[in-house]
Amino acid sequence: MAGLLACSCYLSAQSTQVIAHRGFWKTNGSAQNSLSAFYKADSIHCYGSEFDVLMTKDKKLVVNHDSRFKGVSIKEASVDQCTSLKLSNGENMPTLRQYLKLGKKLETKLILELKPLSTSTDESLAVEKIVSMIKKMNLEKRTEYISFSKHAVQEFIRLSPQDTPVYYLKGDVDPVELKSWGCAGADYHLSVFKQNPHWFDLIHRLGMKINVWTVNDEKDMKWLIEQGADFITTNEPVLLQKILEEK
Ligand code: MG
Repeated sequence: MAGLLACSCYLSAQSTQVIAHRGFWKTNGSAQNSLSAFYKADSIHCYGSEFDVLMTKDKKLVVNHDSRFKGVSIKEASVDQCTSLKLSNGENMPTLRQYLKLGKKLETKLILELKPLSTSTDESLAVEKIVSMIKKMNLEKRTEYISFSKHAVQEFIRLSPQDTPVYYLKGDVDPVELKSWGCAGADYHLSVFKQNPHWFDLIHRLGMKINVWTVNDEKDMKWLIEQGADFITTNEPVLLQKILEEK
């Protein structure tokens, strides 16, 4: 029995985890970055559901990928204007607070991406607000932060509790430097790992994790699983789950 347990622990430590990119949105009634997409990623038991956060002119946080959505520039619009905009599934654009409220009822991890904002002052303010909201809602153990902005990544590391996973997305920083920032690992585009296949081993030797985005092709998924990627961020979470089950 002890042997079996040890064996299953070993296997689970090795297996790749599924992160739904912008939630599970390629399904009926869903839309990217909608509350439904978050709920549906949880329903299919993804490790995490990724979503994008932007800040409005009145310094409120909303969940959306595009800085300009349906002709409205989010940084130049009020939160009321932004949340009156409809997503493709008929939901209104959610605020971060609405997203977190739903998150409280779910089990999937919150993979929170702060999009680069106009100034580092705005990014610092947004990080401060996010970290404080996550703390108040008791979601600290279930949240991981990601960003293309070096400043935002360093602010998340500075302001969130120690051991909060924070990842950098842009792919232009080598693993040793990421480690020196205090990052949990590299969350880079597939092409970065194809160009630097030795990074799989290096990142693990540094005690960090590997997340790869946005991987939708079966062949790429299989290659990354073989390389020992810890997480794959995908628009096709069901396909990835199927491949992992077959393995
Ligand atoms: Mg994103």
